Parts: sequence; structure tokens; C-alpha cells
Amino acid sequence: MPGRAVVNPPAVGMSLTIPPLLWERLQAHMFPGDDDEHGAIILAGLADGSRGPRLLARDLILAADGVDYVPGETGYRALTDDFVNRAIDRAEAEGLAYVAAHCHGGIASVSFSAPDMASHEHAYPAIVQMLDRPAGGLVLAREAAAGDVFFPDGTRSKLAEVVVPTRNLLRLRPEPAAPTGGSDPGYDRQSRLFGAAGQATLSEMRVAVVGLGGIGSILVELLGRLGVGHLVLIDPDKIDPTNLHRLPAARRLDAMTWLRHDGAPEFAKRLGELLSTPKTRLAARNVRRASRGVTVTRLRCDVADPRAVKALTQVDWIFLAADTNTARHVTNAVIQQYLVPGIQVGVSIPVADDGQVGEVHVAIRPLIPGAACQWCQELINPSELALEAQPHYVRQQARYVRELPAPAVMTLNTIAAGEAANYFMFSCVALHADDVDLDARTHFPRTRERDRQSAAARPRCRWCSAAPDSALALGSSRPVLPSADARDTRSTQRTVPSRNSR
Ligand SMILES: [Zn+2]
Ligand SMILES: [Zn+2]
Repeated sequence: MPGRAVVNPPAVGMSLTIPPLLWERLQAHMFPGDDDEHGAIILAGLADGSRGPRLLARDLILAADGVDYVPGETGYRALTDDFVNRAIDRAEAEGLAYVAAHCHGGIASVSFSAPDMASHEHAYPAIVQMLDRPAGGLVLAREAAAGDVFFPDGTRSKLAEVVVPTRNLLRLRPEPAAPTGGSDPGYDRQSRLFGAAGQATLSEMRVAVVGLGGIGSILVELLGRLGVGHLVLIDPDKIDPTNLHRLPAARRLDAMTWLRHDGAPEFAKRLGELLSTPKTRLAARNVRRASRGVTVTRLRCDVADPRAVKALTQVDWIFLAADTNTARHVTNAVIQQYLVPGIQVGVSIPVADDGQVGEVHVAIRPLIPGAACQWCQELINPSELALEAQPHYVRQQARYVRELPAPAVMTLNTIAAGEAANYFMFSCVALHADDVDLDARTHFPRTRERDRQSAAARPRCRWCSAAPDSALALGSSRPVLPSADARDTRSTQRTVPSRNSR
């Protein structure tokens, strides 16, 4: 398949994730077209992943050819002691792991040379002792990567894969993954487009959907049919009679409509509410109907609940389909701190008090680790975020007016869910065009127009930049949310009206 990027399903074992912009700098430095070897040092945070420990690339120190990267005594080239020492000082000061990278020729496979391996045993255990953090080496070819990492407990581990969450979700191994045999014939028609490796990738993906309202519920239906292997479903709400018109395969019984109709006594309404199906259960039911092998994790809680936050740090992809500032803030923090890619979707249907309908629009925004985040794009309103953490009565006083339910229409939700699911699908199976951009899109269905918004990152953003106090790629070395934040949003989760259900 000419022009198609390498497709490897997620590998079990230790991985190194590199944010796309950092990867572009690393590629330009390693492969300028001279077919020579070049060197660099990656400073990385650490996290536990669902398949093994994760190294999270935070910053890159490029070695200047002939100055920092010079002819070696045993190997072809080596980093100078001075360059290495400066990098170790930074790793120590910032509490990061140390990974020295260089490149070899070749394309689809790569391995360390004998002199490389000898130098690892000589150098890395000493660096591990100095840092009390992992240290190791990485060698890159055009479409392959191998790594050798030493840990403070004396163990040593090969890198199973390098992950780059870019336009096509890159997973580089020392050699291409062996072809998967005996794929599910039920996916034959999809595999004809995705390839067996693409379908296998989807079946190994661990995907979170935050918010199972009008858009999230359609997303789950689509992801289940695509054959995504593990879904993490997060929503605190139960199904309400006013949800039935936009939740796929929801039944009147799920909303206990017979107990909750207008003329029913109050106790019957309350009982009906109690017995109604949680949105997580409906979504799980729909997924299992689509696929037998799927694993579903249901989290009936707010996204700021520690269980949800923990689960989000362990997924390969996040769909954000909940329209609160809290949901945006929490997912943004996880995406930047744990380098998990994602996409945000929303539908806005402005209707004025006099019934005038404004500019109906549907937004689809890729969320990219290390690139302009939701704070940089001004998608999170700090005063609204603070207000969402307050008890209900405080919110009502602050807004003076009672919040009315926003209009919601399933057909508009399908635009958001369809485009976001396609973006995910093309990314996983590496079928995005080479020149596709990662900008946000807004559809205006009433005029059938479509806009593109490119965002600039703030140079010192405390989430997506590598500025000294930022969270980027720090992984488990600090909490995702400052504890006061997390406590506030948790304690008020029941009183915050959900706007997830658009
Ligand atoms: Zn080498
Ligand atoms: Zn930012």
C-alpha cells in the first residue's frame, strides 16, 4: 500500500510516547537526508500504562554534530561527556528519566550494534544511580525504533514500542509486527479498507468516552461496531424520559416512562428515577450487542472523580463528549500530563427567549499532547470552572436566572459523532492523508458551511508547554488535579446539573 504509514497494533511491555511536535523536531534532526548518524537526549516523565510502564517524552536536547556528537572511541559516534553531564543535571533538577537517542540506516527494522550495547552497560547503570530514575538508549530508523532501559531497582527492559499520537497514530517497534492470522470474519468488509493490522489495532485500543449523552452514546455505538476492544464509559447520569429521542437503542422502559409521566404521583416519579437505567449501562449493552469480545469498564461517576481520572490516565484515546468546563479541564490535564490523544465534540443550538434561532454549530476539535491545549484555545472559562465546583444554590445565585435545558437534536449530534469517530478510525489504521491538518472544524448545518480554526499554543502554558512549572508529560510524578480542585468537584458532583446530554 504505497504511502501508507506503518501500522503496528499496541504492544505489551514498556513504551515511550513522544508528542507530535517533539517528534517532528527529532525526525528533522535524525533524518536530514545525509544518511549519517545523529544524536539527542530525551527527558521523560513516567507513568503506569495498561500494558506496561510508560516513558513520556517531555523535552528534547539536540546534540550538535561535531560539537556534542563526535567520533567515538569504540563506536562510530558518541555524545560528549560535557553534553551528557548537562543533560543529567537537567534530568535530576526536573525529576525526569534520561533517554539518549541516535539513528541508524534502514527503514523497517532497527537494532543496537555490539558497541552500542557495550556502552549501555558502561554508562546507564551509573546514570540511574545518580538520578534514581530510569535511564537508557533509543535507536531509530525511519519506521522502526528499539530501546534498552535500566531501572533503579536494578532491572533492565527492552522498549516494546515508541508511540507518536500524530495524524496517523504511529507505533514503532524494532521490527514490524507479525501479521495477525485468523481475524474475525465478521470484520471482513472493514478489514478490506483497514488491513488486518488496522483491524487488529482497533481491537487492541483502549478508548474512553467521557459523557454518554446525545453525542457520546452515538460515539459508543460507532466504536463498538468498528471493533474497538476496550471501552471506558464515564457518565454519572441515569436515562431521563427527555433523553429517549437521542440515545440509540434506548427503550421507554430504560427511562421508566410509565412511572414518570406528567400526571404520576411524586413518589412514583421518584421511584421511576431510581429504577431508570444508568447511561453507562445502556452504552455497555449497545457495545456488547455489536461485539462479543469487547471489554467494557463502566464508571457511573463525574469525570473529576478519582476513579474516572485514574481510568483516563490508562487509555490510548479520549473522546470528550461532555460539555462542562470541569470535563474539559480534567481531560485536558490528563491529555497533556499523560500524553493521551483525543478529540472533543460539541453541538450548540442557540435559541433566544423570543424563539429566534441563532447560528447552530457543530464543533470537532482534535486534542493533541504537546500542542495548543484547551486552555490555550480559550475553551475553558476559569470563572465558569470555579462556579461548577460550587454547590447548586451558589451557581443559581451567581447566574441570577434558572438554567433552562439546552435544545438537543439527534441528527445534529450525528455530525459530531460521525466526524470524530472517522478521525479516530483513520488515525488508528494510518489512512489519514499525509497533508491532513489537525485543526478544529466547525460545521454550520443551517448554511452547510464549514470553518477551520488553527490554534496557537501559549509559550508558557502550564499544561501543554515544557515551561518549568508545566504538567506536560510528568505522568504519575504529580496528581492530575491539585487536591483542593479534585475535592471540590467531587463533593458537589450530585448538585451540578449535567449538560452532558446534549
Ligand atoms: Zn548505534
Ligand atoms: Zn496550553
